[in-house]
Amino acid sequence: MLDLIAKIKVVKGDITTLAVDAIVNAANSSLLGGGGVDGAIHRAAGSELVHECRLLGGCKTGQAKITKGYKLFAKHIIHTVGPVWRGGKRGEPELLASCYQSCLNLAVRNNLRTIAFPAISCGIYDYPVRDATKIAVTETLKFLRDRDSIDEVLFVCFDTEVHEAYHETMRDASA
Ligand code: ADP
Repeated sequence: MLDLIAKIKVVKGDITTLAVDAIVNAANSSLLGGGGVDGAIHRAAGSELVHECRLLGGCKTGQAKITKGYKLFAKHIIHTVGPVWRGGKRGEPELLASCYQSCLNLAVRNNLRTIAFPAISCGIYDYPVRDATKIAVTETLKFLRDRDSIDEVLFVCFDTEVHEAYHETMRDASA
């Protein structure tokens, strides 16, 4: 268990600056760009990204699609669509878990070894932050237990609330 936890790093900052095999985008179902981290990724990657995204035909909530990274330091972008929080009884936890599973599966299928996640659904989509970090860490540990091809998973925290929630969740996971 501890060797799996060692593959997870919680970092503060802007995901668009990271030189990893893939950064994950918390996109909307059109995949054509939006606010928050999605807007930041599209701005940093450049306009070629939206051209490739147009060919993908959108993405369903809980699923993921991959593109090149264009002007980013990251080689690829894995776009996933998190659930909008509507009180928790409309499948939100399962859909958020599915986002992490789908992204990690895509990373493995594309031989990517390092991946950075933003706090999917924790911004405009309003998912309770601590619950979201628990799902992110649980699903990632479950995945890493079954497959050893991923070397490093970064949870990138843009704001203090998310950063603190990840620290607490990782502390619980290590106990
Ligand atoms: P969603 O629509 O899935 O809620 P948002 O982009 O609104 O997506 O927010 C998801 C999380 O990403 C939030 O915690 C937000 O603070 C964070 N975020 C925004 N910009 C960046 C960035 N440049 N790098 C990393 N995280 C970011």
